[in-house]
Amino acid sequence: MKKLYTFCLLLFFANTFLHAQIKKVCVTIDDLPTVVYHVASEEYKLELTKNIVKTLKKNRVPAIGFVNEVKLYENGNVSQEEVNLLETWLKDGLELGNHTYSHLSYHNTSFIAFTDNIIEGEKIDKELAKKYNTEYKYFRHPFLNIGKTKDAADSLTQFLKEHHYIASPVTIDNQDYLFAQKYEQALLKEDKDEMEKVANAYLEHTKKKIDYYEMLSEKTFKRQIAQTLLIHANKLNADYLADIIKIFEKRDYLFISQTEVLKDKAYSEPITKYGPWGISWLERWVMSKGTNKNLLKLNPEVPAFIAGE
Ligand SMILES: [Zn+2]
Repeated sequence: MKKLYTFCLLLFFANTFLHAQIKKVCVTIDDLPTVVYHVASEEYKLELTKNIVKTLKKNRVPAIGFVNEVKLYENGNVSQEEVNLLETWLKDGLELGNHTYSHLSYHNTSFIAFTDNIIEGEKIDKELAKKYNTEYKYFRHPFLNIGKTKDAADSLTQFLKEHHYIASPVTIDNQDYLFAQKYEQALLKEDKDEMEKVANAYLEHTKKKIDYYEMLSEKTFKRQIAQTLLIHANKLNADYLADIIKIFEKRDYLFISQTEVLKDKAYSEPITKYGPWGISWLERWVMSKGTNKNLLKLNPEVPAFIAGE
């Protein structure tokens, strides 16, 4: 009887080992140091930052934050308080990347102006990365705009290569920014019910979005590729990042770094279709690989009370 029990136990663990954590995701957080809509005090920004960093650390989630250095200046001078927010990230071993100086769209900016903005956007972060002995080499396209044509995209890719940057593609976009605006509005009105309603809708929408992108991965690559989640450094995530992490854990995801996620060969899959889009790379690969484009129509919509004014 005891032998049978041990055997069953072994079977259970083998099964758990084989099936657990077969999926991987990298958490990337944009528009650092913070995204605030209605509340702008430094205390608020510091608490928001600390909460995000604390949650990542507590759950052992490696993450990278993409910075817009324009936010580090106040009346033309570097704001030490804003720089401190970035140091809060670095102190806990999180990485930083370049998200351009002022969050320009490459789709309505000249190549020269856009690439100048990239260089302008690395001044402080590069020094900070050195100070904390961490690498600084990833680039995130604002609005996920990579170029409306192949030529435009190729020129930017070449520029990034020459300047030792590696682009960080996004595969899961849960549109957190739409929910975050409503959430902060409700916070300002001290409407706790509304805050909870927005947060619950955010978590539900995230689940649907993960389903959608997992489906695209399965249809396009016949497997679950390592995913890259895009969220922003806002109050909604400061309060609910632990729940977002739980959603992924429940689906057997393992959290990996930016460097690890790019080892998945899906990320070398060429993009051949271009347009005025700011979309997930999974959607780009669907179009480029000739997977049924109708699948893109299954992209879950944001609830009306979030999408409306
Ligand atoms: Zn951004």
